[in-house]
Amino acid sequence: MPKPSVSSELVSDCSRCFGLCCVALPFAASSDFAVDKRGGTPCGNLLEDFGCGIHPRLRVSGFTGCTVYDCFGAGQKVSQETLGGTTWRDSPDVAREMFAAFPVMRQLHELLWYLEESLGVRVAEQLRPDLAALRDATLRLTEQSADVLAGLDVGEHRDRVNGLLLQVSERFRGQAPGRGRNHHGADLVGAKLAGRDLRGANLRGAWLIGADLRKADLRWADLIGVDLRGADVRGANLSGSLFLTQFQVNAARGDAGTMLPATLTRPSHWA
Ligand code: SF4
Repeated sequence: MPKPSVSSELVSDCSRCFGLCCVALPFAASSDFAVDKRGGTPCGNLLEDFGCGIHPRLRVSGFTGCTVYDCFGAGQKVSQETLGGTTWRDSPDVAREMFAAFPVMRQLHELLWYLEESLGVRVAEQLRPDLAALRDATLRLTEQSADVLAGLDVGEHRDRVNGLLLQVSERFRGQAPGRGRNHHGADLVGAKLAGRDLRGANLRGAWLIGADLRKADLRWADLIGVDLRGADVRGANLSGSLFLTQFQVNAARGDAGTMLPATLTRPSHWA
């Protein structure tokens, strides 16, 4: 089982962010957002103090996507460190730099999330020096200026990280009783998997949109990149899974009976 060892700097803290996801990112009118918005323009619901004017009513107002999104702490990092506390309202140049750096920082923080989780995996002990080196290299990238960040091609670095995460995954899944199934990249949209034993399954990049996972057992399963939008995880055991993120949890439909890793928070919109 992974230990809950992820840094608090990888947990989003909106109180230290200048509402970057509400400004920098575009969104299209859909079931997730009530309106269209171009990237780089503030959402009409954003307040002067960077809070959300409809925060308690987001879901009933058609902004479900806002209750799902998670930046892995990239917002506060760019706001407070990369741009040193200067806000996008202060100057168009700062705004341009901030909005370009934010999505890159989010990718880097997501990689840091997986690397830090991996460092807590006991059976991956032999990989720790390599994991720590890549974690430190990723951290150094996050400390670059906004201009450098904006021009960064994260792809090559991500491939290096992913190669190591795969090795962690194999060791981790190997602890599961029985032989975990391989559903890598599988189309499991709407699949009926209630009560299934998915312990040790390789679900990397699988599509589980709207799947029925009620009371499924996902311990020792690798959930990196799994699309859990609308998946029913009521009563499911997701504790002891690998590479699950807050973003995925927020997108799923769970309840008080859903078991989560200690690093993640039960969404307030769950029943
Ligand atoms: S509705 Fe609120 S949380 Fe969503 S983008 Fe607008 S200000 Fe941000």
